[in-house]
Amino acid sequence: MADLGNPKNTIEIIQKYQFAFQKKFGQNFLIDTHVLEKIIRAAGVTKDDLVLEIGPGIGTMTQYLAEASRQVIAVEIDSNLIPILKETLADYENVLVINQDILKVDINQLAKEHNGGRPIKVVANLPYYITTPIIMGLFESHVPIDNITVMVQKEVADRMQVGPGSKDYGALSLAVQYYAQPYIVANVPPNCFIPRPNVGSAVIRLTRHEKPPVEVKDEKLMFRLIRASFNQRRKTLQNGLNNSPEVPYTKEQIAAAIDSLGVSPSVRGEALGLEQFAALANYFCDMEK
Ligand code: SAM
Repeated sequence: MADLGNPKNTIEIIQKYQFAFQKKFGQNFLIDTHVLEKIIRAAGVTKDDLVLEIGPGIGTMTQYLAEASRQVIAVEIDSNLIPILKETLADYENVLVINQDILKVDINQLAKEHNGGRPIKVVANLPYYITTPIIMGLFESHVPIDNITVMVQKEVADRMQVGPGSKDYGALSLAVQYYAQPYIVANVPPNCFIPRPNVGSAVIRLTRHEKPPVEVKDEKLMFRLIRASFNQRRKTLQNGLNNSPEVPYTKEQIAAAIDSLGVSPSVRGEALGLEQFAALANYFCDMEK
């Protein structure tokens, strides 16, 4: 089968099947061989690996993944793409296509069945409308993962990577960095896709920490505090926590917790790093004992 990274071949397939792009599924297909090679390299895919691809589209990246890995499981929601994938992936025996919504797939079960529970790699040019639920779902469900290497909206990649003091810093930065080490591999302009997206894109690799970088007694509580702090970004941390229905502590208890961090009482949540949010959560946990 011809390399779909070549735009001519992609256009031919789209015309042959009269494929109609569906905006609601975030369909922007990659047509740049250099970017495809870069993604596979950054993910460090080897012949030992089971790779989960989310949204194979017409199978462009799937072809590259099939060449580099032991097995690819590709989950695609759009049933109009399934006959196309049959043709474009016909040469590969190590690809399993599943016609499903990725948010409804039991990925733990797939890893168990097809990889003996060993860590898998996730590689994808993600549908941008569900980037965060996909990535947080993978982390929170504790799927055994080596790394997630994905194309996302440039702005989202920046948000995942930054620390306190940046305007892009927020709950997503903290959540991602609790679970993984982010690294932006490349920025990718709209002309590398068909059709062209309205936003810039970036490839980001999230290498799963073996152990989280901070010790938290109650992860869920820490994430509730983080959400409450960033829900009202311009408020002080004290007010953000006071006003949140998710945080059950009194004004005095919150003031004492902030004081225990050794920061100003008027500090804003956006000035706190992961370690400080962990300390705050641990303070409330100990207080309840
Ligand atoms: N991997 C292909 C490529 O790089 O050319 C296509 C990438 S395109 C940005 C996103 C793909 O995800 C589309 O094929 C779309 O149909 C699929 N998709 C969208 N929502 C999905 C979902 N909930 N579950 C599985 N696939 C989904």
